[in-house]
Formats: sequence, C-alpha cells, structure tokens
Amino acid sequence: MRIAIIGGGIAGLAAAFELEKARAGGADLEYALFEARDRLGGSLASQIVDGAVLEFGPDSFLTEKPAAAELCRELGLGSELLPSNDAQRKTYIVVHNRLVSLPDGLMFLVPTKLVPTALSPLFSLSTKVRMGLELLHPPRRAGQGSNEDESVAALVERHYGAEAVDHLADPLLSGIYGGDASQLSARSVLPRLVEMESRYGSLTRGMLAAHRQMRARSPESTGPADRSRRDATQAPRALFTALRGGMQQLVDALSARLDAGSIHLSAPVTAIEKDPGGWRVDAGGFVRIYDALVVASPAWVAAALLNSVDSELGAELAAIPYSSSITVNLIYDEARLGPLPDGFGFLVPPSEGRSMLACTFVHRKFLGRTPPGKAVFRAFLGGMKNEALLGEPDSALIAIVRRELREILGDRIFGQAGEPDCTQVSRWPRAMAQYSVGHKRRMEHIAARVSTLPGLHLVGNAYDGIGIPDCIRLGRQAARSLALAAAGAEPELLRPV
Ligand SMILES: Cc1cc2nc3c(=O)[nH]c(=O)nc-3n(C[C@H](O)[C@H](O)[C@H](O)COP(=O)(O)OP(=O)(O)OC[C@H]3O[C@@H](n4cnc5c(N)ncnc54)[C@H](O)[C@@H]3O)c2cc1C
Repeated sequence: MRIAIIGGGIAGLAAAFELEKARAGGADLEYALFEARDRLGGSLASQIVDGAVLEFGPDSFLTEKPAAAELCRELGLGSELLPSNDAQRKTYIVVHNRLVSLPDGLMFLVPTKLVPTALSPLFSLSTKVRMGLELLHPPRRAGQGSNEDESVAALVERHYGAEAVDHLADPLLSGIYGGDASQLSARSVLPRLVEMESRYGSLTRGMLAAHRQMRARSPESTGPADRSRRDATQAPRALFTALRGGMQQLVDALSARLDAGSIHLSAPVTAIEKDPGGWRVDAGGFVRIYDALVVASPAWVAAALLNSVDSELGAELAAIPYSSSITVNLIYDEARLGPLPDGFGFLVPPSEGRSMLACTFVHRKFLGRTPPGKAVFRAFLGGMKNEALLGEPDSALIAIVRRELREILGDRIFGQAGEPDCTQVSRWPRAMAQYSVGHKRRMEHIAARVSTLPGLHLVGNAYDGIGIPDCIRLGRQAARSLALAAAGAEPELLRPV
C-alpha cells in the first residue's frame, strides 16, 4: 500500500512515525510525507539562545491527555519530560491595568469556593451575588434549546453574567485558543460544562459534585494499604508538561526515526485528484498515485485540495475558521527588573484594548530552562480580533510588547528594564483552528463525506482537539488504521474523522 501524508506538523509526523513502525515490523506499505516548508514540525519549534529555551509556538502540553508524553517516552525522551512548576501556579487577569489573580477554586471558568470568590476584586458585587444565586439555576429542559449548540460566551453569561465573560471567558479563551468566546462552541470547547448543566442546572453544583466524586476515588478515601501503594506511584500530576530542551526535541526525535527518503521538504502539494487507481497527488510537478491519503495540513488547505474531489466536503472544511497569532520572547537580566509578582503570567481581556493577549513568565513556569539571573517573558499577540498585527515588522511588535509590559507591570518592576538581552518573534498565520458554534454538526457532516472516499483520512488540529496530544492521537490512529488495512484487516475500523 502506498500512502501520502500531506503536512509535516505534529499530526503528520505522528502518522509517519506509526507507519514507519508498521513498515519496520514487516507491513507491506510505503509512505511519502510532503511538507510545504523547509522544516518539519509545523507550529512546534524552539531554539536554545544564550542558555534559555525559547519556544516559538507551543511551550508544553496538557499532562492529563497522555498521547504526547507516551510518544515522547517511546522516542526515548522520557527523562526530558519536565512538569510545570505548579507550586507557583498563579495566573493574573489584567483589569484596568492592574494584575488581579484568578480566585482560588476556579475550575474551567466555574467558581467553586465561596470565600475567595466573594473577596476577589475581579468581580463586582452584583456579579458575586449572581455567582451565589447560580446554585439555584434549573437544568435546561427540552424545548429550551438544550440540544442546540451555543457560544461559550452565551453559556457563561446565562450562568454568571456579562462580567464573567469579560473577565474570565474572554481572556482565558483568547489566551488559550487565540479565540473569541462569542464565536467558540460551548459543546466542543466546554463539553463537560454543557453536560453538567443538563444534569444539575447549576454549573457550580455540577463542578462540586464532580470534585466530590473525584475525591471519593482518590487515595485518601481508600484503606491504608491501598493508600501507601498509591502514594508511591502517584505523585500529584503537574498541569502542563514540557521538554527540557524545548518542543524541537520532539520534532527532531520523530524526524530521526523516519526514513529520510520518504520525507519531502519544500514540497507543497498543489493538487489532489481521485483516480481509478487511487489518489493522484501533485507536489509541485512530482506526480504519483497513492492508495491512501493522510491529509495533515490545516483544514483550509485541505479544503482547497479536496474541493474538486468533493465540493460539499471542500465547503465544510473551508468553513472552519482559523486564528493567527504571534509570539514574542524577550530575555532580560533579572537584576534590572523589580520583583515580579508570583505566578506563571497574565491574561489580557479584549476589553482592555491592548495588543497583547497574554504573557508567560517563562522562567517561573518551567524551572531549569532559563539561566540563573535571567527572566524570559513570552507574549502572545494577534487572535481573531487583531490579525492585522501579523503584517507589522518585528521591531514594531517588540516595541508594542515592551511598552505594554511596562504599562501593565508598572515602573516599579519594568521601569529600569532597559533593552532586552535578546528578542525573538514568530508569526503563526491561520495556524489555530477555531471550534465555532455548530462544530460538532460540521464534524458529523465531514465524517459522512469522508466515509464515501475510501483511503482518505483527515488529521490535525481542526477536528477533535487543538492541543498537541489530540493531534498526535489522531495522526497515529489514522496510520494504525491504514497499517491494519495494509495487513488485510477492516480498513475503516479506526477512521479518525
Ligand atoms: C503560538 C501557538 C501556541 C500554542 N500553544 C500550545 C500549547 O502550549 N499546548 C498545546 O497543546 N498546543 C498549543 N498550540 C496548538 C498546537 O501547537 C497545534 O494545534 C498543533 O501543533 C497543530 O499541529 P498540526 O499538525 O495539526 O498542524 P500544523 O502544525 O499547522 O502543521 C501543518 C503542516 O502542514 C503544512 N502544509 C500546509 N499546506 C501544505 C501543502 N499544501 N502541502 C504540504 N504541506 C502543507 C504546513 O507547512 C505545516 O507544517 C499552540 C499553537 C500555536 C500556533
């Protein structure tokens, strides 16, 4: 079986790795990976500059989703996995130029602790009263739109009011997804909250019940023998996991495992056709027929390529919105800064009218990746509402970040900072898929169209999770399904989309 992989981001690389394993294990298959750029990894890229790890794209993955750490271990990177420094995990929201910490007990946008919420300067008195009364929120009944998708902003506003959207949902979602709470789908982005609402009515009651159930299953609630056995193996897990040497380590380790002759860089696929003999792929004049395709490019590229094969599929793929972002890394001498507040960094609500969406205090979030005496700030700009920034020169973007850092952190901390030791800017145009309202229905439609096109697999961040672990999971699943098909088993068993 001949397989073409289109796109060498983490999803395409994970697919290639799985196919390479199957091939080495004797499966009758060959693969070719086409990547438009002159390097592999897509959004994953990092570099070590003056001893500091600078992440250009993602800096870590969620520990809770195992696919990324599993792959790292398989690649021999187990000892390189680095947990986030959760003892110092604290995040601030910028409100009128001041850093206000997120109240203790906040879980997935849901306040679960009365006293910290009541004392938090993040919310006005009327929002706090509303948050208390939310405990009485009735479940949504059929006929009240309980089966309809809605935006994250609409869900949060129905429960906690507009200020909770402005001070919580908007900054968290623009900081994480580069997205807009009024566009993102509650069902796709916050499925747990949607389920809690239908069951409990109140999200706070639902979250407290989930927390109680989790505690009931935790070691403290079991017998002493059980407890000591679990204590030895289950240290509390950090929220995020990074690689000591940066995300490029994962890209390099994957690349090293692939057959060099099967990788084609600077080779954008320009056309795909369905041919009686399979799939005809044109990569800049290099034309070949393949039995199967793993399309691991962004959905908007997949749309353009597949439109002539199935215009309905092309239209659905083209309708998936994307946001662009920019990361700016600045290295400073700590001695020139005033004392930074504790924590990992801050998020900026759109209502503050700034270019920065978020800023990570890199030297705090992951220990040991910055030389002693140095501070690294990693700012995010762009997002759905500020795409125009992408066209600005590096010097202008760096100046914006320095000015906004000074205004937000104040002269006491940043006034004497002076010139940074080092600066680095990365642009990520249309890199982050947005799961807009109706995303699940769109996925069903796409899956139905794909099921009529044997051998076609769509993987990447546009479909079933935007994080690195989800992209790895989909890429590997598609490849396993093809390897099974090559071995004569049911081919569509593990179709990812
Ligand atoms: C700034 C930023 C920060 C992020 N932070 C995190 C984080 O901390 N944790 C986390 O889990 N996730 C994070 N993400 C999300 C995550 O990194 C991405 O969702 C994931 O890496 C996407 O992988 P992918 O393989 O689907 O797509 P991509 O990485 O976009 O790869 C697609 C590849 O297809 C190639 N391509 C495009 N057109 C063609 C063509 N015609 N022919 C051949 N190749 C083509 C592209 O060049 C690219 O290399 C972040 C993303 C960004 C941009």
